[in-house]
Amino acid sequence: MTIRDGNGWVRCDLGHRHWGRFGAAGLLAYVAAGGPVLLQQRTWWSHHGGTWGLPGGARDSHETVLAAAEREAAEECGVQPGTVRPRAIFTDDHGGWSYTTVLAQAPGPFEVRSDYDETEDVEWVEPAKVIQLSLHPGFAEHWDRLRAALTPLTIIVDGANVVGSRPDGWWKDRAGAASRLRAQLEPLATGGVSAVPGDPGLDSAAGGGTAGGAPAAVLRMTWLPEIVLVVEGAARPAAATDGPGLVRVVAAPGSGDDTIAELAARTGGRRLVVTADRELRERCVAAGAEIAGPGWLLAQL
Ligand SMILES: [Zn+2]
Repeated sequence: MTIRDGNGWVRCDLGHRHWGRFGAAGLLAYVAAGGPVLLQQRTWWSHHGGTWGLPGGARDSHETVLAAAEREAAEECGVQPGTVRPRAIFTDDHGGWSYTTVLAQAPGPFEVRSDYDETEDVEWVEPAKVIQLSLHPGFAEHWDRLRAALTPLTIIVDGANVVGSRPDGWWKDRAGAASRLRAQLEPLATGGVSAVPGDPGLDSAAGGGTAGGAPAAVLRMTWLPEIVLVVEGAARPAAATDGPGLVRVVAAPGSGDDTIAELAARTGGRRLVVTADRELRERCVAAGAEIAGPGWLLAQL
């Protein structure tokens, strides 16, 4: 592998000329609950010099989009590794080239600095004030979509309900079935989930690629959620055998429904409760949560 082998211009399938032989990535660091976002002003000599956008740049052939976005933010704005937590990935795919925005949550505004090379200035900006700036056209095009996604997602799984939706012999070993579900959920915490119920239809909004006639960009939003699996009754031992993974297993002290409704009410950000139980659904919606059926979750696995 070659360091910086992504530097170079390419022509995408839509006929544009773009920087980044393997695509490009940028970091949108944000403070949740309406806090500021981290923006970079491009140096005057650069392409679209003087405009505000995200720290980012060409992705190298060996890099993940997360690694590329974090490296660029570190180089250009001094964002230290581990300062922000990636919560969503937005991809604007032109065919042959794509720009990926990593939406990453920060606990609060932290100190940043300009490299005074590619970066003229770097600032934490209130979301309402972003459109007052002279924005980079690529960032301006998607700012509304990105702004709507500046909220971390937590998925709360009704373990008994989801396990019960698959006739795989779970009734013989409820704790074992819950542990298997936990292991299956683990890749979703790292690889993410898409087509979240309640998300705007990005692909159709963008024209859905070349299917509709004229070529168009394909837009994708992938969430990197916090996942909480609630287990109850005979499945409760599954919480004790919780591995070192990212999925948190909560053993309900009494009714699983009560614990799920309580989590839906007191968890910050966006909550998606996975259950087919009608009464629990109503309680969670009343608590401000969104709902998905077990079928949606199982299709993601
Ligand atoms: Zn293009």
